[in-house]
Amino acid sequence: MAHLILENVCKRFDDQPAVEGLDLNIEPGEFVALLGPSGCGKTTVLRMLAGFEALSAGCIRLGDKVLADDHVHLPPEQRQMGMVFQSYALWPHMSVAENVGYPLKMQKLREAQRKQRVGEALEAVQLSHLADRAPRDLSGGQRQRVALARCLVTEPDVVLLDEPLANLDRHLRASMEEAFREFHRRTGATLIYVTHDQAEAMSLASRIAVMNRGRLEQWSTPQALYDYPRSEWVAGFIGQGGVAPVQGVSAGCEVGGESLSRGLSMTGSGAATPVLIRPQDVQVVDHGVPASVAESIYRGERYELKLLLESGAQLMAYHNRPLAPGQRTAIQVTRGWALEASR
Ligand code: ATP
Repeated sequence: MAHLILENVCKRFDDQPAVEGLDLNIEPGEFVALLGPSGCGKTTVLRMLAGFEALSAGCIRLGDKVLADDHVHLPPEQRQMGMVFQSYALWPHMSVAENVGYPLKMQKLREAQRKQRVGEALEAVQLSHLADRAPRDLSGGQRQRVALARCLVTEPDVVLLDEPLANLDRHLRASMEEAFREFHRRTGATLIYVTHDQAEAMSLASRIAVMNRGRLEQWSTPQALYDYPRSEWVAGFIGQGGVAPVQGVSAGCEVGGESLSRGLSMTGSGAATPVLIRPQDVQVVDHGVPASVAESIYRGERYELKLLLESGAQLMAYHNRPLAPGQRTAIQVTRGWALEASR
């Protein structure tokens, strides 16, 4: 197992940049997510990794082996990578077991060995009992498990997953997330998981590359992305909360206490830094920063309040009861994160 390294990777289609100057150093066996809105270049990165797309510039290496650069373009079958697609890509005329065993047949493995490896892979994804079924008689989640098993039998070093849960309903997605964790534990392979769903990326990956318009916005653990987003754009994309202009604080710092309360209460026109405030850091109190209630939304276990400050900024808070729209109240804010302004 080796590091997967992307250096200054660029891709242009008809002179339009799709990916620009991407640098990533991925640890062996890491579970990584590529996250970003539609069109930001995630799938293009995955296709360059797989070898389906040539690079316009830059280099991709797996350990010492160059997969792609200005001179080299290793074909997909020589990259030791497996791929799982949103559309499952199963062969309709083959049974589940035949689908899973197909890559081994291509490798000309003997039947007995093939049977054993297919059996193990199906057991790993809990589909042994459906080995003889046709793909059309399976649910979406089961089909995706077949695709995982087909990937598992090839024992790849790196597995590329392109929005593998996008076709499934919410309930099934949660149970499939567990299947991916188990898949990762079993194979120990490096997993690169493309998604535009931040909750999915946060719950699965140990590091996330957040992309926007072909560029890497941030490359961090899920916790660091949530607590310390690098820019206003990332803060808006990950998690919930509000951004308020606060005077007298500098970007890239945690703020709290008196200085934050004073800064939030100011309405002057001095230079202000955008400060991200998460809902769990806002409490409704009797005396504090003045605010008025814009909206109170019931979310089952709690109410979500949208609050307007006198500066015009809008924050969010959780509360155990609803407050009437227009009602005047006060808040205390325990933590904020001063952001860099958006590019
Ligand atoms: P989505 O989440 O919608 O799949 P994405 O983040 O995966 O989006 P890409 O599919 O990588 O985005 O596309 C990035 C940009 O490159 C888009 O503007 C897209 O239109 C463009 N693009 C992708 N493939 C091609 C192609 N073969 N020819 C021309 N432009 C392309």
